Amino acid sequence: MLVLGASTGYGLAARIAATWLYNAETLGVFFERPGDGTKTGTAGFYNTAAFHRLAKSENFKSINLNGDAFSSTMKAEVIAHIKAKMGQVDAVIYSLAAPRRTDPHTGEVYSSTLKPIGASYTGKTIDLNNETVTEITIPPATAEEIRGTIGVMGGDDLRLWTEALLEADALAEGARVVPFSYIGPEVTHPIYRSGTIGKAKEDLERTTEKLNVLLQDRIGGRACISVNKAVITQASSAIPVVPLYVSLLYRIMKERGVHEEPIHQMVRLFREHIGPGQTPTLDEENRIRLDDRELAPDIQAEVSRLWDTITTDNLRTLTDYDGFKRGFRQLFGFEVEGVNYEEEVEVEASID
Ligand code: NAD
Repeated sequence: MLVLGASTGYGLAARIAATWLYNAETLGVFFERPGDGTKTGTAGFYNTAAFHRLAKSENFKSINLNGDAFSSTMKAEVIAHIKAKMGQVDAVIYSLAAPRRTDPHTGEVYSSTLKPIGASYTGKTIDLNNETVTEITIPPATAEEIRGTIGVMGGDDLRLWTEALLEADALAEGARVVPFSYIGPEVTHPIYRSGTIGKAKEDLERTTEKLNVLLQDRIGGRACISVNKAVITQASSAIPVVPLYVSLLYRIMKERGVHEEPIHQMVRLFREHIGPGQTPTLDEENRIRLDDRELAPDIQAEVSRLWDTITTDNLRTLTDYDGFKRGFRQLFGFEVEGVNYEEEVEVEASID
């Protein structure tokens, strides 16, 4: 299996799930900084080193390529590794989340923006620096900003990957290509689904439909979007409004016993939809919906009921802000149970 964006969040969870559910051989691509002398690297680098060590200790094949997945060089390198070491892959998980992308053909650098479209948006958010609930006003995106966001997070790079893999005969008969999307509730629509990032996701979804036809035609394969639930990742924490929504959502879903982290979502993705022998259950727009529990009417009715009443004073009782904060810190290795933070650590780690 090929995982693009394999070092953190949904991509890492997909890689772990496929390895230990199906003994999958995985090739992971990510963009992380290794530790250097006395300077620590980025969290995703150490996540990958830990994954690699555990996978190898149980004799699972794990290949890691650190670099820009948007580049033609990385596509060629990945294909060379697949051909030499794996033959073909039967699944591609596309889980890249990035602020910028350089178009490999034109050299244009696209930047993504998180803004509403058409009108400015004023809404509630958490100011993470001083832990207060405040209002933010975000001006509408310019046409250039919409174009830039589509350039980074839209479907163009997925198309280039799929075409390159097909061209090189690196996809096995019946292979599945699965990119991720998000829809979310009304309260985040102005900033997410109806905003610049939503436009990019629509483009990704349209591209996936076209690639589905191509894959069916060429290798009896399939491309389908998986719409995942909101979770705490580096990418989602950077979106205004989302950390407050996630804090509230986590409290409600935990209380009702339906809470899921990325690993639970990815286990469900493989077991119920794309794992060996599974046929994905799709909505009317051909998407897998792992956000079904998040968007369940009773959960969202509770979100709507409480949203307007959240203030700085009741933030910790009405929402799971403390859980959000811990989850965010854990992305970087802090507040992890069982770790002795007094112990000396090695900043260099191996992913080979
Ligand atoms: P994340 O920030 O945890 O992971 C992003 C991954 O992309 C990392 O492995 C990073 O190294 C890699 N990456 C970034 N730029 C790269 C580049 N140029 N070359 C190679 N690798 C690069 O993000 P995430 O939240 O797990 O998001 C992954 C996907 O899931 C996105 O499509 C996102 O929209 C989607 N999604 C996220 C959520 C959520 O709540 N987090 C919900 C639904 C869908």
